[in-house]
Parts: sequence; C-alpha cells; structure tokens
Amino acid sequence: MELFDVYSLFDVTPVKAKGCTVWDDKGQEYLDLYGGHAVISVGHSHPQYVAALTEQLNKIGFYSNSVRNPLQEELARRIGEVSGYEDYTLFLDNSGAESNENAAKLASFATGKDRIIAFRKSFHGRTSGAVALTDNPAIVSPFNAHHRVTFVDLNDGDAVLDELSKGGVAAVIIEGIQGCGGINLPTNGFMQALRRMCDQYGAALILDEVQSGYGRTGKFFAHQWAGIKPDIITMGKGIANGFPCGGILISPRFQARKGMLGTTFGGNYLACAGALAVLDIIEQEGLMANALAVGEYIKEALPKSDRIKEVRGKGLMLGIEFNEPVAPLRQKLLYDKHIFTGVAGQNMIRLLAPLCLTKAEADRFLTAFSEVLA
Ligand code: PMP
Repeated sequence: MELFDVYSLFDVTPVKAKGCTVWDDKGQEYLDLYGGHAVISVGHSHPQYVAALTEQLNKIGFYSNSVRNPLQEELARRIGEVSGYEDYTLFLDNSGAESNENAAKLASFATGKDRIIAFRKSFHGRTSGAVALTDNPAIVSPFNAHHRVTFVDLNDGDAVLDELSKGGVAAVIIEGIQGCGGINLPTNGFMQALRRMCDQYGAALILDEVQSGYGRTGKFFAHQWAGIKPDIITMGKGIANGFPCGGILISPRFQARKGMLGTTFGGNYLACAGALAVLDIIEQEGLMANALAVGEYIKEALPKSDRIKEVRGKGLMLGIEFNEPVAPLRQKLLYDKHIFTGVAGQNMIRLLAPLCLTKAEADRFLTAFSEVLA
C-alpha cells in the first residue's frame, strides 16, 4: 500500500534530533527554525521530557476517561499556574483542530446560537468544523460550507460589530497571531474592542492560541499582550512537545454538563506526562523570556534588502515577507545551508523555532540568510 499523496515533501529524512538540531539519515546536521510546524517547544528530545514519557510508559500508558486520572488534575493546576488562568477549567483533547471544534461547540451550547464570526486569512484546522472556520476555499468541502461562519477582516471592529448586531452569534474566534495566513497581528486595541463587543452581544470570545501560545511570543498566550481575557482559549502544537495533545481553557462562566464534550485519547497519561514536563522545562529554563529575546534579536539583526517587504511577528513567531515567491530561497536555506524554515503563502518565510533557540544558533541563521540573499 502507498500513502495518500497529500503532502509536498522535502527530500530530507530526519532520524535524530536534539535541541534545535536535526540529523538526517545520511548524518547531515540541520538547524531547525521550524520546530515541526511550531510543535517543538522545549527542544527536540529534551532529556527531562524523554525521561518523563519513558517513566510514564513504564507505569501506565493508557486508560480511558471513565476513571480518575490524577495527571489531568495536576496538568490543569500547572497550566492554571503558569498561564495565570487559575480560575478557568481545562478540557483535554488531541489536536488544535479538535480544540477549536470543542470551543465552537461549547460556545454554541452555552449561547444556544449557531453563527460564528471568524477572520479573513484565518487557519483553525482541518476537521469539518475547524476547516469551516478557516478562510481558505481550497480546503473547504461542500459539507464544511454548511457551517454558519462569517468572515471579516482582521482589525476591522466595525465589521465585527455589524455582524454581531445581526444576531445569532455564538462566538468570535481569532488567532492570537495569525500563523498560516501570514503572521498577521491583531492590534491590542482591536482585541480590547472585541472583548467589549462580545460582552455586549453575549457572544463567546475564543482565542486560538494553538500556534501563538505556549510561550512562543514571550507571554504564555499572545493575547496576554493585549491584557484581555477570552472566554475560551484553544491549545495544541507545543503543549506536549510533539506528543499529540490539545486542550481548551474554559472561563468559569461556562457550566459543564456530563457528556457535553468527550474523547477517547484526550488527556491520556502519556500526553499529560509530556505536557507536565514541558511546563516544568519552560519555567526552569526561562524559555518564554528566551523566545522573546532571541526572536526580537533576529528581527533587529535581519539584513535589510529591497526584496524584503516587511518583517512581522513577536518572539519566535516571525514572518519575513518578500516582494517575490520565497520557494527558491527556502530551498537554498535547506539544501545549501541546512536550515529548516517554514512558509506562509507564496512570499513569506515563517520562523517557528523551538523556544530554546540560542543567540549563537540565531547568528548561524542570520549569516546563512545574508548569504542566500546575496
Ligand atoms: N489553529 C492554528 C492557529 C493552527 O496553526 C493549527 C495548525 N497549523 C491548527 C489550529 C490545527 O492544529 P492541528 O493540526 O493540531 O489540528
């Protein structure tokens, strides 16, 4: 049997990794500024993370959500502590898309309404509900299009107000920083206005922090720069450093009901053990502060070029937008300089490095980047 051919693959086969370094099957070393798509938060194969997962697997790897799981309780306590959302509750699932589905469902249950406002250039995942919230016609099937979603421009408060005032809106969903749509930042003022408007119309404010969260921008969640509190926060990617895990933080205004949400694998022992280790490492190694410092260092030190239109982002969520397609540059970075980078659209190089990226590693990228630009 062959694989269903949906991914455009680079001709590299990673077999080993440590920190921000990856080795392929030929022994070639690479610098990883992509983190497997913003997933590697504390660095590849961190010894403490590996030990936590191994130890857990030797005790109990899986049971179901029909019995008490103390690791879930510990994880809820720890995420509350590290994020500052101690009064929220936690529901664990398996991915970013599932988290956004659960958030939308919860908002709809709570409000009894079925419309959702999302933003142009958004990306919220590939499951049917999540893809319906995503502004990319190429991945929307006729089935997804039945969902009641309205797209408005990011930072356009009037458009949001206009849609809210038409009624029937369960939630507004927004990314802390738009990732796949090209590192577009909501302004602090817009976030604050969204909070007020959602309160006024009784709609839930859902913050998708799947990519922008977990310390990547220097705060635990990107929206915390705007000083607002959403009703639901969705998480995924870096939460367990590559062990599949997702979750939502839920404001105390939402009442749980037995059977309201559920999943077989969500919150399993291994995912929780990985997620707990990630939080410990983030704190012990000061990775949020590091992400901000090294990210801002890269932003400042990037070479100036007529070919670069704009550099956007915060911490280690950076987009370098060019006036031209970046595919050839990215190929050179990968095959000549052995550096993994990400992309957004045709013209943007997207950097989503592990949060432990050092200044020396950043310098290695900056030198290579200047050379491929020249
Ligand atoms: N939300 C955002 C902002 C994302 O970037 C992604 C993944 N790129 C998702 C949701 C979906 O996450 P997953 O692939 O884990 O379902």
